[in-house]
Amino acid sequence: MTTPPAPFTPFLGARIAVVGLGRAGLPAALRLAEWGAEVEAWDDGEDSRRAAAEAGLTLHDPAQGRFRADALLLSPGIPHRLPRAHPAALAAQAAGAPVLCDVEFLYRAVLAAHSSARFVGITGTNGKSTTTALVHHMLTAAGREAAVGGNLGPAALSLNILGSEGVYTLEMSSYMLERIATLRFNVAVMLNLSPDHLDRHGDMAGYAAAKARIFARQAREDIAVLGQDDAMTAAMARGLAARMVPISGLSPQRGGIWAEGPMLRDDAGVIMDLAGAPALPGSHNAQNAAAAAATGFALGLTRAEVADGLATYPGLPHRQERVAEARGVVFINDSKATNADSAARALASYDRVVWIAGGEAKEGGIESLVPFFPRIAKAFLIGRDATVLARTLAAHGVAHEIAGTLEAAVPAAAAAAFGGAAPVVLLSPACASWDQFTGFDARGDRFRDLSRLIAAAGDGRAA
Ligand code: ADP
Repeated sequence: MTTPPAPFTPFLGARIAVVGLGRAGLPAALRLAEWGAEVEAWDDGEDSRRAAAEAGLTLHDPAQGRFRADALLLSPGIPHRLPRAHPAALAAQAAGAPVLCDVEFLYRAVLAAHSSARFVGITGTNGKSTTTALVHHMLTAAGREAAVGGNLGPAALSLNILGSEGVYTLEMSSYMLERIATLRFNVAVMLNLSPDHLDRHGDMAGYAAAKARIFARQAREDIAVLGQDDAMTAAMARGLAARMVPISGLSPQRGGIWAEGPMLRDDAGVIMDLAGAPALPGSHNAQNAAAAAATGFALGLTRAEVADGLATYPGLPHRQERVAEARGVVFINDSKATNADSAARALASYDRVVWIAGGEAKEGGIESLVPFFPRIAKAFLIGRDATVLARTLAAHGVAHEIAGTLEAAVPAAAAAAFGGAAPVVLLSPACASWDQFTGFDARGDRFRDLSRLIAAAGDGRAA
């Protein structure tokens, strides 16, 4: 008689409080319970609590009474310091218990399974998701065992335990990096830094310090892929324990990987012409491509495998995603550009566009986009702050119209483009979407649907 395999219970005997039962938190709580932990789950929202109870979890508010767990798994969206620490975090800290993120638990579980699967962590202010998806795509295209998740989704604790040849590629936000303890990345990628999330990190130094934690547990045999295109990121070279590979989308980097115009190269020569990587337009994507190539090499991929991965990368939805093509006009969905900085990247990627923008404007509006205004044949504005954007465009003599909604803007923009105004209809809103949509993804989905309807009517095709 064969005995069934023993259940995998790396957290047997551990008491873990899980607070925040959303997209990542609920699967995390269930997985930790399955893996032997005594889980106490909590969410401030009644609906989430109900869902957790229905899934069989034990509810307990760790902020009530004495904090009795060994660790707190706190959802990245919930602050443990600034702007105001959540009561559960205060309770854990008062009890001396660590506040951790789900990736930390995945790492511990992989070690407990005696797997030497490698961990790649990717962070930076911009380009995290693209670089993460790109690395994972390279690995799978090369036939490697691989899993992708973290901030990009799926949730870290819904990933499987990989074998020793496997690679986890994980997008790490600053919020997650503040909550790792033992996690050591075999390859850590830090792309770039610009002001973001300062409410949570206090100031730029606090934000940079959180990001730098991606390198914290690295040793000499690990690789630190470090962006050189902004001074703050480049300065992180000081104090790295790992071997550094410098990367740039702009300028040569001895010993590293960089783009010279469209040519991605290293000291040995050209890796590929990025013109052959249609889902990676623009110099910002050259930075992402350089980082992904450096990571691929660190993981043992060949030059051909790296080039093939870049060429066949399909792109992520809502990031300069080609959604339709009709009568010589392409429709680009860049709904993820929720601020002017991101929209600038998209505008820089095309010589002439019909632009759709608007929603809830960020501080500063679209003033910083003025250098790109000559590329805009006409703008169609939507959402709450359409008039704010219109004022800036008017002040610089850019043709524009307040369309109000995407339903009005997309056909009007298409008509202008078909009429010869520009070969590109670009949704890159430079604004948040909350005034009209449940998120940037819903806004992008709507744009994709509308574009495809128009393309189908105009003898075009979905791209
Ligand atoms: P993140 O996950 O860091 O938010 P994404 O890969 O989702 O980044 O890209 C979001 C937007 O940021 C893109 O649509 C693009 O406009 C811009 N972007 C992407 N990569 C970079 C980069 N390396 N540098 C600057 N901006 C970038």
